[in-house]
Amino acid sequence: MQPFEHILVGAAETLEPRQMRTLTQATRLRLDPDGVLADDNHAHARRWLDCDETYGGVFVLRGEFDAEGGALLKTAIDALSHEMSRGEVRSASQRRADALVDMAATQLRCGDHRDVHGQRPHLTVTVSAETLRSGVDAQPAELSGVGPIHPETARRIACDAVRTVVTVAAPADAAVSMASTSAVPLSVGRATRTIPAHIRTALHLRDQGCRFPGCDRPPAWTDGHHIIHWADGGPTELENLVSLCRRHHRTVHEQGWRIHIADGAAVVEPPP
Ligand SMILES: [Zn+2]
Ligand SMILES: [Zn+2]
Repeated sequence: MQPFEHILVGAAETLEPRQMRTLTQATRLRLDPDGVLADDNHAHARRWLDCDETYGGVFVLRGEFDAEGGALLKTAIDALSHEMSRGEVRSASQRRADALVDMAATQLRCGDHRDVHGQRPHLTVTVSAETLRSGVDAQPAELSGVGPIHPETARRIACDAVRTVVTVAAPADAAVSMASTSAVPLSVGRATRTIPAHIRTALHLRDQGCRFPGCDRPPAWTDGHHIIHWADGGPTELENLVSLCRRHHRTVHEQGWRIHIADGAAVVEPPP
């Protein structure tokens, strides 16, 4: 150990912390490989991740990973959190948060999942036709696992989703309907995609990814946005659809930007 100690003390004065760690680890691997393996196994056993919803309705993620798991996660997040455009306004931290949510969304959409109660895992929005159409919160839309959400958020999620139409009994009289919270279903339609597969293929071919100016997200990461919402009678046809990544779909619905295709080019209008 004597000669190594001499080298390490000398190195500690000149090396960066990361280089120092590499050198120490290389030295330990030569002197005590079993000890290194035991430490690795200990770090692996101590891995944990909590995803807690706060009273305010936001989620806080905390955890600890072993070196390999952490590096894998960081590589994936870094790969997805690069700046999208020259006018990028998100901080690096916000981009990492978006990257993790993008990974979850893509995994649920494209991943190979075991069914839960006969369905692939997904989020469900329950919203009345009236709220979806008018944006007026007659009956609040509900997101599974979250609770009531803003009507415009419901309109965004419904833009490109699997839709099941449930017809419920009309209330016999107003007093009863106010008092009772659960509607009685009369019929339940088949689950169908709001954008059928052949139209989505054509949309991907035309748009080649998110059409928001400056954005480079590829087709697999985009939603099909109805320029005139289907709930307002907008047709599910190429002329009424445009590909938007999750972030820009949100920009259009929740932040009031407008986008449409004119003469093959995407035209964006900021909120008035
Ligand atoms: Zn939309
Ligand atoms: Zn985009």
